[in-house]
Amino acid sequence: MSVTVTHRGPIAVVTIDNPPVNALSLAVRTQLFALVEALDADEHVRAIVLTGGGKLFVGGADITEFGRPVELPSLPALIERIENAAKPWIAAVRGAALGGGLELALGCHRRVATAEARFALPEINLGIIPGSGGTQRLPRLIGIETAIRVAAENLTLDGTRAAELGFIDRLVQEPLVDAAEAFALEALSRPLPEPASRRPLATPAATAWEEATQRIGRAARGASAPLRALEALRFGAENGFEAGLANERAIFLELRASDESAALRYLFFAERAAPRPAGLRGIAALPLASAGVIGGGTMGVGIAAALRNAGIPVVLVERDEQSLERGLTALKAIFEAARKRASLSEEEAEARMRGVTGAVGYEALAGCDLVIEAVFEDLAVKRDVFATLGRVCRPDAILATNTSYIDPRQIAEGLPHPDRFIGLHFFSPAQVMKLLEIVPIPETRPEVLATGFELARRLGKVPVRSGICDGFIGNRILRRYRAEAEAMVRDGVAPSAIDAAMRGFGYAMGPFEMQDMAGLDISFLHREAARARGEAIAETPGDLLVRAGRKGQKSGGGWYDYAPGNRTPIPSPDAARLIAPLVGAPLELAPDRIVARLIDAMALEGQAILDEGIAGSPSDIDLVEVHGYGFPRRHGGPMFLSSRQPS
Ligand code: NAD
Repeated sequence: MSVTVTHRGPIAVVTIDNPPVNALSLAVRTQLFALVEALDADEHVRAIVLTGGGKLFVGGADITEFGRPVELPSLPALIERIENAAKPWIAAVRGAALGGGLELALGCHRRVATAEARFALPEINLGIIPGSGGTQRLPRLIGIETAIRVAAENLTLDGTRAAELGFIDRLVQEPLVDAAEAFALEALSRPLPEPASRRPLATPAATAWEEATQRIGRAARGASAPLRALEALRFGAENGFEAGLANERAIFLELRASDESAALRYLFFAERAAPRPAGLRGIAALPLASAGVIGGGTMGVGIAAALRNAGIPVVLVERDEQSLERGLTALKAIFEAARKRASLSEEEAEARMRGVTGAVGYEALAGCDLVIEAVFEDLAVKRDVFATLGRVCRPDAILATNTSYIDPRQIAEGLPHPDRFIGLHFFSPAQVMKLLEIVPIPETRPEVLATGFELARRLGKVPVRSGICDGFIGNRILRRYRAEAEAMVRDGVAPSAIDAAMRGFGYAMGPFEMQDMAGLDISFLHREAARARGEAIAETPGDLLVRAGRKGQKSGGGWYDYAPGNRTPIPSPDAARLIAPLVGAPLELAPDRIVARLIDAMALEGQAILDEGIAGSPSDIDLVEVHGYGFPRRHGGPMFLSSRQPS
């Protein structure tokens, strides 16, 4: 049974028990609906407490049902039936009441919750809007402005805040059901409050809606659900509850069938599966109580910050005092910036730095469970580092490299215990970017691999296992993407047209703007090195720019020109002249053709990566693109998109 009833005198306690998140599946809805009827008819029952089994109230609708037509009783019908019940229903909430769970609580006549309870409407993250009255009942209880924040901007309310807003009638402590029973008994003598649907709602001025539209539109970056949620809120505020409810349901059903929602649901399931790869079930991770980071440059500092944010003490090792000082200062600046954004308190920022030990000698790493190397991208330097680590670290410590391109098997060569060696490829800035590519070598022990996944979990990152190839999954696809973008330039398409098309698709930047920001010289040097080894690599337009000193923003210009102190790209006649020998007659391509060429190139490289066994699944590739390279979430990823388009 997923829904149970127990009787405590005149109070019936209804518990939804549908692990893991008490989702409102068809079975749960059917049983609840029948219970409302039965309890209405039961003359011994005077009030009903509705609660969730386990640690939470209800995590939401059952999204595995989303691909099918809605089966009855629908959630809106169930909630309406509860609202119209002859006896008072009291929601008793601990933990999360999310999406449909919050809507269910809104249909009850009264609500109690613990201070730590959490209320949210995260539907927009799945490309839909609440479809069971969330955008109509919530504003009638907490006011339209906060309801906009909750339904269209992902604001979560805790129990305390919800009580301040009047949405929760009483804050209670555990044991929750006892407290709810006492509240229900007290309330028996009072008249039933108006249900949420019949409460008045003040309509804000048009300017307030305009302001919200601007704000939400900017944050949505092309995703449609947040603005549709706002539309549902506004329609209900202006046209009354009944019309508002019908309109909300129509938008919900439309979005539920949209490509955007399909993409976001696909990513939701991929992200949920990523931390638990099939091959590692039952294999325990090793202890991770302390970590070392070698190299306090761009990556080392970001990795150290990510470790500290997860509460792991860090030893940061640099090659000399001056570099160490620079690294520690950069690390401090990260926490300082978080403090200024108010995401860290002053004490927290200080505590983050207190957990960092700076050192120039490697001996300080002797006690670490894990050491991550982030020194220069140079095989000889890295081998030296690992030879030293092999001597100073505990024999059971995990040794990891953050290399972008070097074959980790070569780095591990000569190590006394290669079974504890692994690639952990972070993305810049490492304290922000969610992707962690995990690259085992053939000798890596399963426990060490499992610890890589456990580290990702603790750092709040999305782990993707990658096999070994040049650039692993992400940088290999990036190279193909750039090559295709340059091929289009050779065909005569303006770089600014390509960038604009990719921004229109949802990237924050196009490929040429991105190269200007990151610097053109790194991939140039990579190609030069390959040429020096005798590989036949043709001259590219990017090579011509670097040879003329145009390395990107840092040298004042690259594909674009830049005004001093300004990062806005300006199309560059100089760059156009420099690359002219490799460029054909001007060609205008429609933005969707440009996008299609680049996505196809990425998907083809992705397919090769799958065929070679470098990635375990198409969704792993899409997770890499979304979390490491800014691929717009609402399109799912290159593999997802190409699987849905007729080829
Ligand atoms: P960086 O040049 O900014 O930093 C390297 C740091 O290592 C320098 O501060 C240097 O002083 C220090 N160092 C060099 N040799 C050392 C030694 N023997 N002992 C201690 N410290 C030493 O480089 P980065 O961009 O941080 O890259 C580091 C590694 O991470 C490289 O392998 C790179 O390929 C990889 N990586 C870089 C990025 C990126 O976007 N920058 C992304 C992923 C991975």
